[in-house]
Amino acid sequence: MEYKRILLKLSGESLQGKQGYGIDPERLKDYTTQIKAIAEQGVQVAIVIGGGNIFRGMSGAQQGFDRVKGDQMGMLATVINALALKTSFDAIGQRARVLTSIRMEPIGEFYTNDKAIRLLNKGEVVILAGGTGSPYFTTDTGSSLRALEIKADVMLKGTRVDGIYTADPEKDPTATKFDTITYDEVIRRGLKVMDQTATVMCKENKMPIYVFNMDKVGNLQKVMAGEKIGTLVTP
Ligand code: UDP
Repeated sequence: MEYKRILLKLSGESLQGKQGYGIDPERLKDYTTQIKAIAEQGVQVAIVIGGGNIFRGMSGAQQGFDRVKGDQMGMLATVINALALKTSFDAIGQRARVLTSIRMEPIGEFYTNDKAIRLLNKGEVVILAGGTGSPYFTTDTGSSLRALEIKADVMLKGTRVDGIYTADPEKDPTATKFDTITYDEVIRRGLKVMDQTATVMCKENKMPIYVFNMDKVGNLQKVMAGEKIGTLVTP
């Protein structure tokens, strides 16, 4: 296996699946089944889940919501998605635990890095909800923060495109894909694959980022087997 402990960032939007809104049970099952398969092969998996399928503070602010309240609504949205993932893991017999960055027992246990690492060492999948717990951040930043805290070997960003392109491939058909790219290049080119705060944080702490298409069933397994299907961001 390419990596022993991973932080997998899943966007909330991707949970919509083909429905285009809310949470698609098929997509959930695709994700949790793939994650279970690598967990059974001994990979320790921590997941940071987004909330964009339900609420984003920024869009709320554009509609007149207070930004801090909007971001808190967004963080609660990630908790809803975390519970959906948990029920899906339960249904397929994979042990999983929801840890929240904001206290809200009994919905989830309060996150500490020690607790997360202890659970990972026991083979449980850890679902990290609530992002960083602070407004003005995103779950990308939550992912880079948690990846560092739990000493992950890599931060995997599962998206719906198969890596980092020179431009948005869904808008620009001439865009070409990078197999590898440096953190500086991502920042310099203003590539929107991850927010810049998260990219800078990974850069400063030498956390490798691997971007790949998580929506194609089988891809997670390929990444773990070392197949070069996505884009690796390195120093
Ligand atoms: N959020 C926040 N702090 C965090 C993580 C998330 O305030 O540390 C809020 C923010 O409003 C964000 C929303 O939660 O828009 C949902 O997260 P995100 O947009 O990262 O979800 P994704 O795009 O991955 O679905």
